[in-house]
Parts: sequence; C-alpha cells; structure tokens
Amino acid sequence: EMFGQLTTGLETAWKKLKGEEVLTKENIVEPMRDIRRALLEADVSLPVVRRFVQSVSDQAVGTGLIRGVKPDQQLVKIVHDELVQLMGGEVSELVFSKYKPTIILLAGLQGVGKTTVCAKLALYLKKQGKSCMLVAGDVYRPAAIDQLVILGEQVGAPVYAAGTDIKPAEIAKRGMQEARKKDIDVIIMDTAGRLQIDKTMMDELKEVKRVLNPTEVLLVVDAMTGQEAAALVTTFNVEIGITGAILTKLDGDSRGGAALSVKEVSGKPIKLVGRGERMEDLEPFYPDRMAGRILGMGDVLSFVEKAQEVMRQEDAEDLQKKIMSANFDFNDFLKQTRAVARMGSMSRVIGMIPGMGKVAPAQIRDAEKSLKVMESMIEVMTPEEREKPELLAESPVRRKRVAQDSGKTEQQVSQLVAQLFQMRVRMKNLMGVMEGGSLPALSN
Ligand code: GDP
Repeated sequence: EMFGQLTTGLETAWKKLKGEEVLTKENIVEPMRDIRRALLEADVSLPVVRRFVQSVSDQAVGTGLIRGVKPDQQLVKIVHDELVQLMGGEVSELVFSKYKPTIILLAGLQGVGKTTVCAKLALYLKKQGKSCMLVAGDVYRPAAIDQLVILGEQVGAPVYAAGTDIKPAEIAKRGMQEARKKDIDVIIMDTAGRLQIDKTMMDELKEVKRVLNPTEVLLVVDAMTGQEAAALVTTFNVEIGITGAILTKLDGDSRGGAALSVKEVSGKPIKLVGRGERMEDLEPFYPDRMAGRILGMGDVLSFVEKAQEVMRQEDAEDLQKKIMSANFDFNDFLKQTRAVARMGSMSRVIGMIPGMGKVAPAQIRDAEKSLKVMESMIEVMTPEEREKPELLAESPVRRKRVAQDSGKTEQQVSQLVAQLFQMRVRMKNLMGVMEGGSLPALSN
C-alpha cells in the first residue's frame, strides 16, 4: 500500500489516545511525538514537520471535542485536515491559454519519467477532448527522441522531432509553427534532463521558456527521492520560474516525503501524479484524497465530518429558534451574541437566517464590536431585568444603574432596550413572512 509505513507510524499515535476522554496538553505529547517520528521517517523535511506538529497540537488542545467524537478520532480528523492544507488544500488544475495552442513545457532530471509523462499527459488531455502535439527537445539523447516518437504513436499524438543537430529553442519555434498549421490545442515540449542540475541545462531551459512563453512550466520529479524532490522544485522555480510539479512513481514504495513537502517547501503545487508505467497512469493530485489514503481511515473521517455537520446544524437551528421567538429577552440576546462569537463568523450565522443576504466584512466587524458593547451592559443587569426588558423600559433609575455598572452611557442603555423591542417586532414580522409566505396552493 502506498505510504504504508507512514500510515502505520501514524496509527501508533491514535492508539495512545484510546480510552481518553478529552484532548489535553499532556495526553497529546506522546501521540505528537509519534506523528513527528512518522513524518520524519516518511522523509518530510524537518521545518515542515515542526510547523505541522505545532499546528496540529494547537488545534488539538484549542478546539473542544465534537459531541460524540472520541479524542483519537478527533485527532485523526485534525491531522487529516492539516495534511490536506500541507499539500495545498485544493486540487491545482492545469491552466489553458485563451488562444490555441496552450503550451506546456516539461523539465526534469534524467530518469524521473519525463518522457513518459509527455505521452501520458497527451493521453490525459486527449480524453478531455484536446488535441496534443509532442515536441522532442531532448537533443542530447537520440534514444529519448525515438522513445517519444514511439510513445506518441502509442497515445495517438503527433510528435515533432528535428533531430539532434539543432538547438532546443529552435526546435521549440518550429514545433509551434507546426502546431499552428495542424490547429493543435496543446503543445507538450520535452526537454533534456541531466543527472544533476547544471548551468547549461538551466540556460537552455530559460531560452526555451523565453521562446515558447508557455502557460505551464512543470517540473517532473520522482516521488522516490522524498524531500529532495521538494528541494528540486524550489531550485527550478527560483532559476527558471515554474508553475507546478508532476510527481511520478507514486506507485512505488515511496515514503511520502515528496508528496507532503513539495507545496510547503517550494510554494508550487503538485498538479499531476504518475502512478504506474502504463500510459493511463496519470491523474490530478487531490490533496484530500491523498490525505485520506495516507490515513487509511475513511470511515472515521466521514463519521467526524458528519458529527461536525450535525453540531453546526443544531447550533444554527437553536439560534434560529431563539431569534424567531416573540419573547426574545436579554438572556436570548446574550446567548445569541455568545453563540455568534463561538461560531466565529457573524456572516455565517446571518447567512443562515432566511431572508438575510450576504453582509460586507466591514459591517460584520462593526456588528461584532457593537455586540460586545451590548454584552457588557446585559452582563450587569439583574436576572429579572434580563427576563423582563419592560422593567428597564419603564425605569430610568434601573437604566442609570446599568449604565454606571457597565461603564456605558445612559443613552447607550436606552438604545439597547429600544433595540430589543425593535427586534421583537422584526422577528414577529419575519415569522409572519415565513409562515404565511409560502406559495398558495393551486386550486382546480
Ligand atoms: P526520463 O529520463 O525522465 O525521460 O524518464 P523516462 O520517461 O524514460 O522514465 C524512466 C523510467 O521510469 C521508465 O522505465 C518508466 O517506465 C518509469 N516510470 C515513469 N513514470 C513512472 C511511474 O509513475 N511509475 C512507475 N512505476 N514507473 C515510471
């Protein structure tokens, strides 16, 4: 199984939490050590491991347990989400130019699978209805040109080759002309690889890139090389500027370091992965699926996600009920503001209330600020006053006391009381709209 060792290493971490009731600073020490070890053994670079472990620890003790979810399950979920983030979060799609042809330049060291990727990519794009032409730019290895011709034939893509007595930049130019003549959608240019990075190779790549002005410059790296792959992506990006990486040989017994490090180390996403020698074995890199495979705990993950969803829904429904209640008092008001604060974002809550649209961020900040002010006034009210806002409405003496105790002005207190009554009215109206607002039944 892919990344089997990493999976096993992480499992030891969850096991240590079996039987625990909560996640604490103390009881996560051991599991975090296991996670750290597992990642290092998977050849993830040390700074990446450090940041990862720190972030997971913070979340583990910083967020309360989701109802019905056990500490080990919750940790699995936190690690999963953090792995997804580490790998770039979203899938990073190939970009196509507005006008034909889109040009994809492939670079990479020798033996990483670059020539194979050229043909695989042509097949992959052909399945999306795009015609591709391969351009043979590896002028140092005649065998590489032959290989590209054979593979091109295999996937049904024309190959432009001009021999080895010509500069790659010139091949690039002629290849483009050829592609225009043939009305090709995508050009995929193969370039020379070396065993090591050297200046000639970089200069050549720079020149080809200048001539082609490609939409995508993708570095092909071998997953078996672990964090070294991430370092290569960084170097190529600094030297020639790339748009992403293609990770090959993920089907082998690679340990995971490359897949986990590339984005974080280089800032560039892995766009595609090679998972075998067959031409069909190229697919987009999905961080979430990859994280799922690494953890191998799909059932736990979907369970925790469902629990999270239920909790969010219950919170929202609770809140909605209270907001809709015609007897809405200061206690509800307070609960509401606290629920809002706990949920972090006012906009989300407001979005859940039927009839309310999107709210601008500045409005939300203002609203949150004024909620704090209101909260401080409600906090100093007596229980009676909170339940019966009328008491405050009728008594200037009470309002004065609330103002003094909360450090706000009497005017602010009066405003708050007035607001509560306004809210009651608005809620009643809103309820009326909701209850009577459905479409009338059609009569025959
Ligand atoms: P290049 O020197 O970078 O052009 O590398 P090649 O395309 O010639 O590939 C080198 C070797 O790696 C070949 O034997 C390929 O079949 C093999 N290869 C390429 N990609 C993959 C992959 O995703 N998985 C596996 N298992 N082998 C691969």
